[in-house]
Amino acid sequence: MRWSIVFFVFVAQLAVAQHRKITITVEDKDAVVTVAPLRYNKSFACSFTLDDGYISAARVALPYFNGGQVAAPFKDQWGFDEGGDGADYPGLYYTDGCGNAVSFKAAVAINAKAIHFSWDELAQMKQAGWDILNHSFTHATGKDVKAGWEVEENTRTVQQRLQHNMQQFVIPGGKDDHLSAPFYTNAAFAQGLKVVHSGQYPDYWIEPSTREDWNRLCAGRLFLNSKTSMTDVVFNGIREHLATGKYYWLNTFTHSVGNDDLWNISYRFADFKELFNRLAKEYGKEGKDNIWFAPPEAVHAYENIRRTVKPLITRSGHQFNISFDVNTLEKYNALTFLVQSSTAIKEVKGVNCTIESYNGKLINITW
Ligand SMILES: [Zn+2]
Repeated sequence: MRWSIVFFVFVAQLAVAQHRKITITVEDKDAVVTVAPLRYNKSFACSFTLDDGYISAARVALPYFNGGQVAAPFKDQWGFDEGGDGADYPGLYYTDGCGNAVSFKAAVAINAKAIHFSWDELAQMKQAGWDILNHSFTHATGKDVKAGWEVEENTRTVQQRLQHNMQQFVIPGGKDDHLSAPFYTNAAFAQGLKVVHSGQYPDYWIEPSTREDWNRLCAGRLFLNSKTSMTDVVFNGIREHLATGKYYWLNTFTHSVGNDDLWNISYRFADFKELFNRLAKEYGKEGKDNIWFAPPEAVHAYENIRRTVKPLITRSGHQFNISFDVNTLEKYNALTFLVQSSTAIKEVKGVNCTIESYNGKLINITW
């Protein structure tokens, strides 16, 4: 890169840099303010991705998570029933820690050459706060894969259709295709994607704060399927990881969630419903309320912000001042601050940021 270009990029970034400031007023002189390990100060994060763009993602999973009518049984183009039961569902929720319900949000990993829901339905998922992940343009596998082209063409097509930049890649070969994995991983990182997901990568329980490869994260993932019982794997895993007192991210996926086990690689509606209901009941709004059920880009962005944005926290009298600069605006711009204080927070004000919500213990901001 020529120096003039480097300089230009530097100046361009400075132009977006904005000083953000939050003022908190508390009576307690010994109050302490810190950044929460996970958004909304949750104990663990959980993500769920539906691979390959199957229609049940839009017509079953989206209304089930978001609240709405799940599709009645229907046969897809291959003769599989990709519908649910046609009933209305209230949605699944956790809270922002301040009493406001937030719906479970998933992700779809797509091959833009052939998506099985419509582009309008994909836009609706995006609108609902779901992530769209790059899963290669044609789902090619094997040693002769044109990995660079597959990643790029998929990025280009989604950009053109939805004006949307995908930020993470899911290797199409799954657990068994070791031949294409290194090519895809290198291509995705070379093209600026930040996370590459694969069942081949070691762990689907990820500890964000200790990962050294956060900028180029190789994320493992747990395959939710109807061939074996997943409930023990998931719920024992959660209990074990919560018991460590550390903050983990559980990364899961499947393909389709309709009534049939599509291609024997899916998670039947009955199983899907049972697992996610129980997850919401135990760890969501009506339960311990310690789950952050968010798509992978949101989880990655929060830790990235935590690592790169270092808020300066000072105090004068009853006022705490938190100030920080961010150079680039990303898709997810959010932080949660923890306030340990013997008295309630009297007032919170933000400059160049939005105070989303706060209570006696935490403050959620976005910008
Ligand atoms: Zn796939």
